[in-house]
Amino acid sequence: MELKLYNTLGRELQVFSPVKNGEAGFYGCGPTVYNYAHIGNLRAYVTHDVLCRTLRRAGYKVTHVMNITDVGHLSGDGDGGDDKMVKSAEERGKSVLEVAAFFTKAFFNDTQRLNIIRPDVVCKATEHISEMIELIKKIEANGFTYEAGGNLYFDISKFPSYGDLASLRLDSLKTGARTELDVNKRNGADFVLWFTKSKFENQALTWDSPWGRGYPGWHIECSAMSIKYLGERFDVHAGGIDHIQIHHTNEIAQSEAATGKSPWVKYWIHNEFLVLDKGKMSKSTGGFITLQNLMDAGYEALDYRYFLLGGHYRSQLQFSYESLDGARNSRRSLAKELAAISGKAASLPQEGEEARGKALEYLASFDKALEDDINTPRALSALRMLVKDSSVDPRDALAAVFSMDAVLGLGLRGVCERALKENANTATPVERAEIDALIASRAEAKKNKDFKKADAIRDGLKARGIILEDTPQGAVWKKA
Ligand code: AMP
Ligand code: ZN
Repeated sequence: MELKLYNTLGRELQVFSPVKNGEAGFYGCGPTVYNYAHIGNLRAYVTHDVLCRTLRRAGYKVTHVMNITDVGHLSGDGDGGDDKMVKSAEERGKSVLEVAAFFTKAFFNDTQRLNIIRPDVVCKATEHISEMIELIKKIEANGFTYEAGGNLYFDISKFPSYGDLASLRLDSLKTGARTELDVNKRNGADFVLWFTKSKFENQALTWDSPWGRGYPGWHIECSAMSIKYLGERFDVHAGGIDHIQIHHTNEIAQSEAATGKSPWVKYWIHNEFLVLDKGKMSKSTGGFITLQNLMDAGYEALDYRYFLLGGHYRSQLQFSYESLDGARNSRRSLAKELAAISGKAASLPQEGEEARGKALEYLASFDKALEDDINTPRALSALRMLVKDSSVDPRDALAAVFSMDAVLGLGLRGVCERALKENANTATPVERAEIDALIASRAEAKKNKDFKKADAIRDGLKARGIILEDTPQGAVWKKA
């Protein structure tokens, strides 16, 4: 596969070529665990999941790292507003760490229901404070910081390529004011690396540091943890488009200022928003929909995954219950088609069994769609066309479907297994025992080279509507 990805850094499609041959280091900004994830947030994590699965299909050994933000994230990404974790803890009458533990568990419950593969490394900000302090020390030693009013700031005027990711002009950022006036800042877009008590007297969690007792700015955690687990240069960094302008721009400045290596990350991938009635869905302004809300309304989590796959990650996706109904109906008809193919195949291909023949043509167009900046709508339609083509050998079709599903993550092997079981379950226990006995005596007859008898048993069963298929594991049967 020659994978092409749209790189926000440079704003063009680029052929994926990793830092280390055959490997892919992937960092996706994880949740701030002060509340449940809403279905917009989950779009970001399904996007990361599909991207990692695609890299694996393309043959790379992927290391997926996700952070859990449990400290330092203010309601304004540019250092303004309340501390999200502290505010939520106060409202709920719990400690910050209790709130973090509760919502982290809820988050992974959601991702599991969506068939999102758990990242190889899940790292909490509060468990990496010393790595953050070490990184800030390097940034300071390299001359990119200043202290003012008790905080340590990053001075963007010392970093000439500041704002390249977002195509921002450094001149305007030096003078332009951000949402909240901070008299300590020398340039409008400077940002805090380390807060001391000067910002919030009631900060719940604080740590000793060379700059005083305090806590880290939000952006530094992603630089420190990604470098720790993926090295000073790695391949892919992902997040929602809201992170381009401030969070990711600041992450690049910090990381490159600390290591002196550029580019820190080769490919920046950003997903567009899931929107409700033309507005952004937001965790902090309330009025958001959770996965549990969808399930309470009678949908399965994978209906939502299917719905997301029907949109390209770089296009805005409008959520409505009508479109979710559409996704559910398509998923149900896919399940029916797969049940029919499974019945014809009589048994399922083994894990990793390769598709052959005409099924390969569909698999090729599936891969082509993924190569084209992870075009999941086109990939899904390759799957739909494959299952509708009755000229494809059923076992080959299923082998190709399972290869596709390694990327789509729709649990399609389970769908087929259930279909086969239901098929077998329509026979009464007595009938099943009788069929099994006939299969055993046919095997015995074949062993004794009494093919006449073996064929007679097979034909007798066929006349009753029972079809036998010989597999390496022995004969299996299904109802015609
Ligand atoms: P947060 O937990 O607020 O840090 O956000 C987690 C992830 O969800 C980030 O990558 C955001 O960019 C992303 N995100 C937030 N809102 C939406 C939305 N409505 N649609 C898609 N992604 C979103
Ligand atoms: Zn981040």
